Amino acid sequence: MSVTLSRRQAFKAMIGLGGTAVSALLPAPAQARASSQGHGEEHPEHPVAPTNAIAMLYDSTVCTGCKACMPACNEANGLPSDTLLSGGIWDMPMGLNAKTKNIIELYQDQHSDEFAFVKKQCMHCLDPACVTGCPFGSLVKQDLGAVTWNSSLCIGCRYCEVACPFEVPQFQWQNWNPKIVKCEFCYDQRLKEDMQPACTAACPTGAVIFGKRTDLLATAKERIAATPQKYFENRVYGEHEAGGTQVLYLSSVSFQKLGLPKLGTASFGHYATKVTSVLYKWLAGPVLVAGVFGFFIRRNWERHEAERREHEEKTGFPDQL
Ligand code: SF4
Ligand code: SF4
Ligand code: SF4
Repeated sequence: MSVTLSRRQAFKAMIGLGGTAVSALLPAPAQARASSQGHGEEHPEHPVAPTNAIAMLYDSTVCTGCKACMPACNEANGLPSDTLLSGGIWDMPMGLNAKTKNIIELYQDQHSDEFAFVKKQCMHCLDPACVTGCPFGSLVKQDLGAVTWNSSLCIGCRYCEVACPFEVPQFQWQNWNPKIVKCEFCYDQRLKEDMQPACTAACPTGAVIFGKRTDLLATAKERIAATPQKYFENRVYGEHEAGGTQVLYLSSVSFQKLGLPKLGTASFGHYATKVTSVLYKWLAGPVLVAGVFGFFIRRNWERHEAERREHEEKTGFPDQL
């Protein structure tokens, strides 16, 4: 795909020139959305994964919480450690953030000894709402399924963040030219070189493994069949949720306890298409979209400022995220 529109050009055009001019400047994927989406043809409610689609299977019952996958991810992606909460000593993020594309979190029941680890990252949805929602085509679903991000097209509008049902894309609040941060399956760094993602390569227990989605689904179901008492509801999270994802989960506790949302089986890209088809209709959409973005940017900024103040009051550390 040729890239002719810079972030600055796109932003200026959107603010200053109005919808028609912006539409003329929009890169091909966004123009295609503006003209053809809205009837659901490209975004069936229940997408079918290509036979060669890649995936990751994370089995929480095998994860020891060693966190070896976290620095491996940071190193592969050139991300610094998030040492704010550890007083500058070690990587200690509170959740996915501008420095953290992959995190291991601990679920612990307060009234029993029940606990489990969970790996959080982009789910690489089969039909991603972030891709459908991005008006400039800066998020792309690659052939094998990795959802990647093109910084030269991103204007930092955060519409992808609003659209994502898993709350994955993170905004670089402290950057003068902020961008979105999320796992890209190590697409440029490793997949293109025929290497598996850094996190699956680093995992010493096999708790997270990489392969074809069909194979990993079969593996997950074999594990469930072998020890059904071990797995919650005897099912694989991500097989059907939100139309299916390319990161799959097995767990001994409820997926919601792990912080994975309860979602229906319909694709969020399908629903996002219905919204964007209205917004972009008759080329007037971008103006309206700019207003919607403005609303969300303002609302999120106010929320972020409140969280930052609360964080500083609680910890005494300035929030640098
Ligand atoms: S989890 Fe969110 S950011 Fe990742 S592909 Fe799905 S919609 Fe996009
Ligand atoms: S695939 Fe790459 S970017 Fe994504 S979580 Fe794993 S190491 Fe990080
Ligand atoms: S490296 Fe593997 S075992 Fe260790 S925390 Fe990550 S997923 Fe779990």
